[in-house]
Formats: sequence, structure tokens, C-alpha cells
Amino acid sequence: MKWKGRRQSTNVTDARGRRVSAGGAGMGAAVLQLVARQFGPKGILVIVAVLAGMWFFGLGDPLSLISGQPSVQQVDYQPTPQEQELFQFVTVVLADTEDVWNAEFGQRGAQYAEPNLEVFKDRTQTACGMGDARMGPFYCPADRKVYIDLGFYDELARTFQAPGDFAQAYVIAHEVGHHIQNLLGISGEVAARRGQPDYNEWSVRLELQADFLAGAWAKHNSRYLDHGDIEEAMRAANAIGDDAIQQRSQGRVVPHAFTHGTSEQRMRWFSRGLESGRIEDGDTFSMAYDQL
Ligand SMILES: [Zn+2]
Repeated sequence: MKWKGRRQSTNVTDARGRRVSAGGAGMGAAVLQLVARQFGPKGILVIVAVLAGMWFFGLGDPLSLISGQPSVQQVDYQPTPQEQELFQFVTVVLADTEDVWNAEFGQRGAQYAEPNLEVFKDRTQTACGMGDARMGPFYCPADRKVYIDLGFYDELARTFQAPGDFAQAYVIAHEVGHHIQNLLGISGEVAARRGQPDYNEWSVRLELQADFLAGAWAKHNSRYLDHGDIEEAMRAANAIGDDAIQQRSQGRVVPHAFTHGTSEQRMRWFSRGLESGRIEDGDTFSMAYDQL
């Protein structure tokens, strides 16, 4: 993908220097009460001494342990040159999605509200709860933000064997697809079905539509594509399908637990988006589930 020297989005937050520790899950106060009852003031003094020691040696934040609130520390984060290049790449891809979706919404007489993107390291606080790098990149509808730990791209290349810059771009475009679904009210309708027996099917439909939107974005962006880029994105869609992931992690495939769609479905809807480029053609909700 041709991206160097192109416009970078200003809707990107670099939160890699923000270190978030999970806190004591609210247990601290209960433990203190218990100690006070069992051992009296002496017990409390011992606890306070231990917490002060932990704080002194940098092992934890006593206040966050007691309150259960995550604590946030700002450190001076020094990315490697490769990491910094990846960061710039992400800002260009986000800018590309802004250009495409501003134009597409504009043509339909609508206004596209651009999402934010936060690059974090390990853990971050979101309006949807604590975000963890192990979840992979995700979108939070409540704060309209895409979250990504750039370490995911190593995983994509190594574990999922889907390297390449366009595979990386596809991941961002898919999350921006979720943002569009949020703007259109589709995510809300699906979220309202949480807890129902067929919720997984709704979730698959939502995910496949996000893949379609990623494909539609790629179509409008085709002038920047290099030879082999589409194959890179397809490889990523193939590798992170639910059946492929389950096969790898459990050694078998359990269809009812699918929430993202099979590899074949993900590739199919990405291709459909790539052919069409039009939001209207990405209806994954009307057709029968086994036809997806
Ligand atoms: Zn998704």
C-alpha cells in the first residue's frame, strides 16, 4: 500500500505512555474491615506498612488497591523506529477511512462523524470498560473510539500468518466499519439482543457487515494499492475467522459459538464490499443465516 508522505489523521491519541494497573477490584476495603475485626488496630498498621512498602518500592499503588479503581501512571514511552513507523501508518489509514466515508456519507446527504483512534500499550480505560491488548483491536460505541495495541500486528504476522501493510490496514478499516454501524444505529439493535439465544447469529451478521465495509473502503482506496495487497487483506480475513481461530486454540470447530463468521464468510463479504463500494449493498441482516 502506498502510504508514506500522505495525510495523517489528527483523530489519533497516543496513549502508549499511559500505564494502567487493574486495581484491587474493590476488595481492598473489605479486606481492611476483616483485618480490623480480627486483629484490631495493630493489624491495620501492619497492612498500612505493607502497602507503604509496596508503594515505596514501586510495586503498586495502595490507593488503587484499596478503592479498586485502576491507577494510571504516565511514563516516558520510547517507541522503536519500526513501532513509530507503524504508528504513522495507522494515522494514514485512519485518514483514508475519513476521506472515503466523509465522501460516501456526503453523497447521501448525511454527515459522517469521524471516530477517534487510540494507540495503547497493554491496557487502557475505555467507556466500555477496561481494554486489554489480548482482546485484539476493538471499537467502543460508547466513546466512538477504535483501540489498538500495535503489538497485535506482530501476532497477525506470526500467529495468524497474515503479514503485510494491507492486512494491517484491513484491521483498522474493519473497526471503522463498526463505527459506521454505530452511527447507523445497527450496533445498538444488535447489542439489545444480548442474552437472547440467537445473539451469536446477530453478532456474526454484524461482523460480516464490518468486513463488507472494510472491502468497500478498499475499493474507494484502490489507487493506493500495490500488487498483492488484496491477497494480504484476504489472508487476514481468512486467518481471523472464528473457525480458524477455534481450530488453532481448541483443535476443533464449534459452530454455535461463532461470533465473527467463518473464514470463508469473512473473505466473501470483504470481496462483496470490494466489488460494490456501496454501504447499501452490505445488508447482512435480511438474508437467511445459512445463506450468509
Ligand atoms: Zn469486528
